[in-house]
Amino acid sequence: MYLCAMANILDREIQYLPGIGPKRAELLKKELDIHSFRDLLYTFPFRYLDRTRIYAISELEPSMAWVQIRGTIVAINHAGENRGKRLIATLADRTGRVDLIFFQGIKWMEEKVRLGKEFIVFGRPSTFNGSLNFVHPELEDPESALAQGSTMTGVYSSTEKLRNSGIGIKVFSKLIQKLLNQWLDHIPESLPESIRQQAGLIPLRQALRNIHFPENLQLLEQARARLKFEELFYLQLSLLKQRNVRMRHGAAPVFSRIGEYFNHCYCRIPFELTGAQKRVIKQIRSDARSGLQMNRLLQGDVGSGKTMVAFLCAAMAADNGYQTCLMAPTEVLAQQHYQGALAFAGDSGLKVALLTGSTKAKERRAILEGLEDGSIHLLVGTHAVIEDPVQFQRLGFAIIDEQHRFGVAQRARLRYKAELAPHILVMTATPIPRTLAMTLYGDLDVSVLDELPPGRKPITTKHIAESQRYAMYKFLKSEIKKGRQVFIVYPMIKESEKMDYQNLQSGYEEIVQEFPAPEYVTAVVHGQQKNEDKAHDMQLFAEGKAHILVATSVIEVGVNVPNASVMVIESAERFGLSQLHQLRGRVGRGAEQSFCLLMTGYKLSQESRQRIELMCSTNDGFELAEADLRMRGPGDIEGTQQSGLAIDLRLSNLAKDGSLLNYAREMANTILQNDPLLERPEHRLLAQQLTYLRHQGEEPVDYSRIS
Ligand code: ADP
Ligand code: MG
Repeated sequence: MYLCAMANILDREIQYLPGIGPKRAELLKKELDIHSFRDLLYTFPFRYLDRTRIYAISELEPSMAWVQIRGTIVAINHAGENRGKRLIATLADRTGRVDLIFFQGIKWMEEKVRLGKEFIVFGRPSTFNGSLNFVHPELEDPESALAQGSTMTGVYSSTEKLRNSGIGIKVFSKLIQKLLNQWLDHIPESLPESIRQQAGLIPLRQALRNIHFPENLQLLEQARARLKFEELFYLQLSLLKQRNVRMRHGAAPVFSRIGEYFNHCYCRIPFELTGAQKRVIKQIRSDARSGLQMNRLLQGDVGSGKTMVAFLCAAMAADNGYQTCLMAPTEVLAQQHYQGALAFAGDSGLKVALLTGSTKAKERRAILEGLEDGSIHLLVGTHAVIEDPVQFQRLGFAIIDEQHRFGVAQRARLRYKAELAPHILVMTATPIPRTLAMTLYGDLDVSVLDELPPGRKPITTKHIAESQRYAMYKFLKSEIKKGRQVFIVYPMIKESEKMDYQNLQSGYEEIVQEFPAPEYVTAVVHGQQKNEDKAHDMQLFAEGKAHILVATSVIEVGVNVPNASVMVIESAERFGLSQLHQLRGRVGRGAEQSFCLLMTGYKLSQESRQRIELMCSTNDGFELAEADLRMRGPGDIEGTQQSGLAIDLRLSNLAKDGSLLNYAREMANTILQNDPLLERPEHRLLAQQLTYLRHQGEEPVDYSRIS
């Protein structure tokens, strides 16, 4: 009825497109997730065949995309034998010659390619045996090629199954053409006129036609710009609106006073807070007294002093009668935070407890009681703190350290531990490039600790080859003689766990031989140890009683031993950039000059070499994160998968479209400032478009419930 009249043609199921039918529709759903007209139209070509111009052979370069040339066959040769056999036809125009090489279908080609015949050749220039040529280009008779008109044709990705059932690339393109020819005029505009005007974008219909069948390069660019903007704009609008929804979701604890706990503990801190720490505390304080739930992401490079921010938050909560929990991703780290918290609290009366998987039953009972009666102010622990038996009297603040290790579901459980939604602070030392943060955490407020405590010397990072191993041992000895301590880390990767332990074990044996007791004390920490053994060796190292700590990457997160000044990373090529940076951050915390030594084998892939070189060239985590994003793309960046958000951007590239993203976010922000939930009639179109996002699985999870 009313709804039908309003219905968008793009919502129509794909099987109703003439030429598709139920069977092919089923296949399109399965293979390409295409359910509706919209899905089909928003499946864009990944490249284009440009038939709008014919290049001269002298203009060709190996870096070019697909191009057209026109010329005459002037030579035909055969080379190679058996399976390496190939046909080489030389094509010439007025400006030069180029070889066309065929490895397959040679017989058929011999029929077609004759001396003196003229062709339009369509392909991608490459270099083979040092000279420029085309491998398996398309050849067309000039007459029939020109008859097709000078167009740009989109090329779509397809699958084997689709091709086998007759939906090859050409058919796919025809389907889209059919859809456009028949229904283009019925497709409603998806952006409000005012936004379109302001951003200088072409109308949707024109954009859709030109992204599939570009009239010319300029219109193709405009079409891409328009659709990219739309993609980023609606994603940001949706994230920011989510944030507004969450903030209006009932009351949050109000921390209005700064009292005894805060003041007492603050005065005991043995150093001056950095400017960045002070600024972040102020931001948090103003959030926490606003009456709205805070959801803040605190980014700070390793060693920037995030833990202190967390402790001060806990004191602030205690002053207002609320409890805090601080969750760490590993036992080792929880233990360390606990020690830190005890030192922070001192004799202030702020009561701190530690709860992990290995807390003994009796102690556990006492802690659970203390949480329920409110006598414990700060609970430090691993994910054990969000397990069911844990009940707080009045949880006001939940702080999650190194959140990448915490799934969305685990955060969700936190929400239900308190009557009022506790304020949430997520701390991460894995710097996330800004564009990615805006997309992954676009609904969180972000604070950055962009200043390291004074007196830190930049870490010197060096790439060490296997042949220099003994020189490296010598260097370690000299550092140990100066009273420093050394980390030696081995990779630990799930798939090859067994071999990794073997490597660690034999590495450990070599170290013990090279650094014999009693002169040297070597501790070892890895995942197959009992917790007590792990804690024992860790303690040994933390107290300075062991000179060397041989470990798997469990020490990656958080461990703080200021006297350790050398980090040796074995098989460094097997770690990702962010992991390497995390590990390096374990040293350089004291006033001494620190070193990070990256050991690798001789043979390195280009990408590994690039990573190692980057590590040697900068200490800046954000710079590394940006490089990581460029090198690997957003899908592979740590934390992306666990975040629970699908970044399914079809056109935009977070590594390249940063400024467009900023622009789109700002525009979304401006709109929401006057209409936080998009309730005004003039924003009906916007609100409606967001529902399509959800349909595509792009609407982010509801943070009001999970965090
Ligand atoms: P991260 O941000 O990596 O979690 P930590 O909180 O572990 O860093 O802090 C690293 C070290 O720096 C700790 O030893 C901590 O006590 C110290 N620290 C923190 N803030 C300051 C400061 N403002 N001045 C000097 N040292 C600081
Ligand atoms: Mg930390």
